[in-house]
Amino acid sequence: MEKIASFQIDHLRLLPGLYVSRKDKFGGAVLTTFDMRFKQPNTEPVMDMPAIHTIEHLAATFLRSHKDWAARDVYFGPMGCRTGFYLILEGDLKPHDILPLIIELLDWIAAFTGDIPGASPAECGNYSEQNLNMAKWECKRYEALLKQNNDKNFTYPE
Ligand SMILES: [Zn+2]
Repeated sequence: MEKIASFQIDHLRLLPGLYVSRKDKFGGAVLTTFDMRFKQPNTEPVMDMPAIHTIEHLAATFLRSHKDWAARDVYFGPMGCRTGFYLILEGDLKPHDILPLIIELLDWIAAFTGDIPGASPAECGNYSEQNLNMAKWECKRYEALLKQNNDKNFTYPE
């Protein structure tokens, strides 16, 4: 089998950031997959599972309800390596096209109070595994990195 595109990126040189992971064409539509990399691979500790789970629930809810982006939202979900998330949106997009959306998303999670959407036994396969405080901490940290606006955090290493 061929190596898939995301395994061809040198994870030893990959920094945390917001990257275009791949683009796929389906008929006339282009889908852009973003790599929302919260952690430097194989270097810093990964996110804990409850925080990832809470970010997944909150981000999916936010994106599916967003006034401008809901119709273009295809998928949001965690990477199995626990260093980040994948976001798939309709359109031929660059990281800076969605940076305002991502900042809005991270701000929303950082300020979230109340019940985590979908965290009930009828709606989720492991509903009690949540950590809102750590989810907020991870999102604030990632947002601070993105706000530095360094090219190296938006373009894969050559
Ligand atoms: Zn869940």
